[in-house]
Amino acid sequence: MNNIKSQEVFDKACNYMPGGVNSPVRAFRSVGLKPPVIKKGKGSRLFDLDENEYIDYVCSWGPMILGHAQPAVIAAIKEAAENGTSFGAPTENELQLAELICEAIPSMEMLRLVSSGTEAAMSAIRAARGYTGRDLIVKFEGCYHGHSDGLLVKAGSGALTAGVPDSSGVPADYSRNTLVAVYNDAEGLQELFKKYGSKIAAVIIEPIAANMGLVLPDIDFLKQLRTLTENHGVLLIFDEVITGFRVSYGGAQELYGIKPDLTVLGKIIGGGMPVGAYGGRRKIMEKIAPLGPVYQAGTLSGNPVAVAAGISTLKTIKQTGDFYQRLDCLGKSLEDAYTEAANRYGTDISINRVGSLLSVFFSDRVVVDYSSAVKSDLEKFKKYFSFMLDRGIYIAPSQFEALFVSYAHIEKDIAETKAAIEYAFSLL
Ligand code: PMP
Repeated sequence: MNNIKSQEVFDKACNYMPGGVNSPVRAFRSVGLKPPVIKKGKGSRLFDLDENEYIDYVCSWGPMILGHAQPAVIAAIKEAAENGTSFGAPTENELQLAELICEAIPSMEMLRLVSSGTEAAMSAIRAARGYTGRDLIVKFEGCYHGHSDGLLVKAGSGALTAGVPDSSGVPADYSRNTLVAVYNDAEGLQELFKKYGSKIAAVIIEPIAANMGLVLPDIDFLKQLRTLTENHGVLLIFDEVITGFRVSYGGAQELYGIKPDLTVLGKIIGGGMPVGAYGGRRKIMEKIAPLGPVYQAGTLSGNPVAVAAGISTLKTIKQTGDFYQRLDCLGKSLEDAYTEAANRYGTDISINRVGSLLSVFFSDRVVVDYSSAVKSDLEKFKKYFSFMLDRGIYIAPSQFEALFVSYAHIEKDIAETKAAIEYAFSLL
């Protein structure tokens, strides 16, 4: 594969940006390669500076559920931009996006738009502390909720890939109020609540964990978490930045029938533009400024262009009858392709999948939490990644990220991917 132009640009970028990138995993460090520099995307495909074409299973790490440059979304962005890109004043479209979200996720009676998932999670925690008057929060090992100080403790995703579960630069004092629990461990949770229950403001969780690779929740564990939090006056925050509008229109909370107090969103609700949101019970959200004493603000929050992309994305999903069934079919075909190749070549893998989200762990054991995820064979992943990229399949350069399928993927993409998987597994 010719990658002369990409290498040249990337090498130059390394002089100006740490690792040549604006978000760490993009640098491909953990797989020991230099990343292709992307020129454009269309549908399920990405094109780099050297005109190489890739079938994209990163999908901008989730937002591009309709594929790249989807015509309706691009038209909405153009129309909004022509009317001005930012006012710092209310617009009607913000109401429309808020209505669409609250209608899809009824536990969100009121919400606030922000510009990233990080901001949304950080602000939800502040709201929970303000509402309860308590300081402690609980997060789960391997769950990622953005890079704000208090949440960067045993976080998965890029931090896990880079082997820095706890970031330097975070004073111990900032994370002292963050307790860490084990995902899917109901007993551990009971213990934690026995000890600290009355001091905990909130538990934040990815209801389907997608930042230590994809790890599915034990439904009973989630139900117990709901009961425990309720009984102790602790707010339950679902971080649905990845799962919102991904696993079903109403997110994981709809899929499992569990209602959190607060929900954190991002990615899909911005249709590829910077948007996040947090919201939940009206009583809690009424604590947010200017109604209440919890301060939170943003110059570009509810940005007109970003909001237009979000509205168009959600409306397109809503209007497409077979949307989630089709995504599930594509996800299932991909899962089958991995299982067949693993059986044929005797490769130990463990697959977790929900609809269009999928992780293939190079491991002979079932992956149910952080400690089982990190037992995966990272050397094997590295080889597999490089063989796939050679064959034009663009997946996240980390064992600890999920694969995303979009509505723009077609059967031909899956067939080509299947051939690449066979090729890669035959060489592992
Ligand atoms: N929460 C979850 C579950 C995420 O996956 C992410 C990002 N991958 C975030 C929060 C942070 O979102 P952002 O990168 O938009 O700040």
